[in-house]
Amino acid sequence: MSEVKYKRVILKLSGEALAGKKGFGINPPVIKTVAEELKDVYEMGVQIAIVVGGGNMWRGEAGAQMGMERAQADYIGMLATIMNALALQDNLESIGVPTRVQTSIEMRQIAEPYIRRKAMRHLEKRRIVIFAGGTGSPYFSTDTTAALRAAEINADAILMAKNGVDGVYSADPNKDATAVKYDTLTHLDIINKGLQVMDTTASSLSMDNDIPVVVFNLNEPGNIRKVVAGEHIGTTVRG
Ligand code: UDP
Repeated sequence: MSEVKYKRVILKLSGEALAGKKGFGINPPVIKTVAEELKDVYEMGVQIAIVVGGGNMWRGEAGAQMGMERAQADYIGMLATIMNALALQDNLESIGVPTRVQTSIEMRQIAEPYIRRKAMRHLEKRRIVIFAGGTGSPYFSTDTTAALRAAEINADAILMAKNGVDGVYSADPNKDATAVKYDTLTHLDIINKGLQVMDTTASSLSMDNDIPVVVFNLNEPGNIRKVVAGEHIGTTVRG
């Protein structure tokens, strides 16, 4: 594993990453591409844990805006992440990558409950662990889940896979021609400048636990491999 910079990583996959162009629902061919990329990185010997989002199906905030109680709407969002996790598991296993799904909300018929030490054991035994259900608490996000699980399992980095954006910009590059891409940033920069990387809770948790976050474009083949190998792509957020 000498060519590897990060030996144990949390990959944050948003729901969007599993939805394809329509931006909604689960798109099996799109998941297949992600699974093949992951297999490649898995074969490098990297221990991979994945936190999946659910925004391709439901966001609690949107439900609340339409008049639902926020906590109730958030639970629907957490359930959406579990559907995504099962779809990803199916794809990974179909190409021979052993996986375990662990959920923060018990659903024993389809997945293990989240048990930190068991998750770490799975990683050591060369299984990809998919964390589903977010933190299990409303008012949080799966970005925060990624920061939390990264701290809990002593991950070397959080890989924030973005759809079509190759890092962190000073402004939206699709709307502002003067937007510049940052090579490196601190977690505090993200919070102070209000940059759209992860929410503030996730940023402060990453800062407090000194976890680097690499923001990169998932849609470019080979990018996950490049990040774990230590090639500087996207934006690295530290300190
Ligand atoms: N969610 C939650 N608590 C968590 C994680 C997620 O309540 O710890 C809910 C929340 O409603 C959120 C939805 O699940 O909108 C989907 O997660 P997220 O928006 O983080 O997904 P992504 O944007 O990454 O696809």
